Amino acid sequence: MPTKEEHLMAWLRDAHAMEKQAETMLSAMAGRIGNYPDVKAKIEAHLAETSRQADMLHSCIERRGGDISTLKDLMGKFVAMGQGMSGAFVDDEIVKGSMASYTFEQMEIAAYKVLIAAAEACGDPETSAVCQRILQEEEAMARWFSENLPGVTEKFLARSQMPDTTAKH
Ligand code: MG
Ligand code: FE
Repeated sequence: MPTKEEHLMAWLRDAHAMEKQAETMLSAMAGRIGNYPDVKAKIEAHLAETSRQADMLHSCIERRGGDISTLKDLMGKFVAMGQGMSGAFVDDEIVKGSMASYTFEQMEIAAYKVLIAAAEACGDPETSAVCQRILQEEEAMARWFSENLPGVTEKFLARSQMPDTTAKH
């Protein structure tokens, strides 16, 4: 039977892989946005945050005597690459990408709530503090998408009716 500490370590590694997946997804999305500078800027800012989150998780994992799971990290990257490529062929990519990003943030929020509780159960206040800080960043990003999805949709619909506009994203 795995110990509490082993569960915590597995979940930290999952979270690290999740952030690596997020890095690939966010950079693919930011690179393709041409007409929504506010969305692009927000995604680029969160990409920088995401890289720091991955580093902070890595530190927690090492401090607890583990190492990162290269296999899980790679699998996350492949999933993200697949999503990034399929996104290139849909004209409503800005809407689908924003929906996917909002959903991803909710998954991250859930993961960090689990990690905070697990770190507390294992008596690791440092890991708990790191995860609380990251949770705030994910909640801020989810809030931004929650508030901006209607506006992005309206702008997309307006652009989609312009006869000479080919690049909708
Ligand atoms: Mg994140
Ligand atoms: Fe995030």
